[in-house]
Amino acid sequence: MRIAMISEHASPLAILGGADAGGQNTHVAELSAALVAAGHDVRVYTRRDAVDLPVTVRSPDGYDVVHVPAGPAEPVAKDGLLPHMGPFGAWLIDRWRGGDWAPEVVHAHFWMSGLAALDAGRETGVPVVQTYHALGTVKRRHQGVQDTSPARRIAYERHLGRSVDRVIAQCRDEVGELVRMGVPRSAMTVVPSGVNLETFAPLGLATEREPGRTRILTVGRLVERKGFQTVVRAMEHVPEAECVVVGGPPAGLLETDPYARRLRALAGSCGVAERVRLVGAVPREEMGRWYRSADVLVAAPWYEPFGLTPLEAMACGVPVVATAVGGLRDTVVDGVTGDLVPARDPRALGAALRALLDDRIRRFAYAGAARARARRHYSWAVTAQRLVEVYDEVATVHRPTRVVA
Ligand code: UDP
Repeated sequence: MRIAMISEHASPLAILGGADAGGQNTHVAELSAALVAAGHDVRVYTRRDAVDLPVTVRSPDGYDVVHVPAGPAEPVAKDGLLPHMGPFGAWLIDRWRGGDWAPEVVHAHFWMSGLAALDAGRETGVPVVQTYHALGTVKRRHQGVQDTSPARRIAYERHLGRSVDRVIAQCRDEVGELVRMGVPRSAMTVVPSGVNLETFAPLGLATEREPGRTRILTVGRLVERKGFQTVVRAMEHVPEAECVVVGGPPAGLLETDPYARRLRALAGSCGVAERVRLVGAVPREEMGRWYRSADVLVAAPWYEPFGLTPLEAMACGVPVVATAVGGLRDTVVDGVTGDLVPARDPRALGAALRALLDDRIRRFAYAGAARARARRHYSWAVTAQRLVEVYDEVATVHRPTRVVA
């Protein structure tokens, strides 16, 4: 099948860890690779954000990345991209009408991609599948006035949910959110993200660690909602262990990163500075080494649409302590593959970590169950297959193209 992915801000080729580069980039890269491995023809359309980017780049996994000229050829924060979605959609229409390659289905990632995809899909008769990755309602609830999303985000998201051919929800929590927004349940199919079971496996190299010191690992973009402050505060309740934070800008730029500075200051004021280490961004291919070096992975976000890092740790056979929010309530089985704790509660997180680190047998049992769960339910091959079933369903519905005056 000819499949177009639209991922306006998240290129599958980007370096991860920065403020706007994380799970969506990984998701689009891995999904596209799995679809190519299953024999499909995949093109990923992402915004051209540097002058020296060629229009098309063939990724090592066999899909093409097409850099769409929409807005300035320089980095633009995600929340500033809305005005460029019209030109993005228009460029797609031009290309797909031009004749050399047109998709049978277009899968949009994030709401702004959905707007461009819907425009292009309506004009060219291509069905549109939408994955939100994150929802404006949830962000607004948790971030309040600090939410810098465009004002009409939630209205656009509702409109998309009612207009596209199928919405892919990634977890049960998202289904509830979408229903409460007014998106019909019948428009949705639940397909969770996958995890790369070759990159993330128990056997392989692991980063060095200090002998005799247990390691708590936490991974993600260095943004407040990921809850790193809660983790740092929790370290007060977990004596002896070290906490390694992976993500953020490259190591050399941590000194000047405002959030990294705040975390370090907090660690100082909690008296745990010597046991908290920030390593900065790590290339995706080296992430397995960090997971394998850990006794436990902590994911303590305030909210989490899906959350790939716990799943990556689980695939490496690492138990997870996570906050009971969003997608983490589906991936982490409380008391079986890890422990779930309330969000923004350093004391509860600290107590759960301490109890788990003190209990080698439970850790071992969680590790085995975590690995088995990741393998059984979250392989990319299965996720891709389930999405292809959706693509097939929507592609068989005939839809007229809009008549151009
Ligand atoms: N990641 C990475 N290097 C880093 C930090 C993160 O490769 O330094 C990857 C991580 O392995 C995961 C993704 O970025 O695949 C983060 O995804 P998640 O769903 O946990 O968070 P999001 O960024 O979507 O909020």
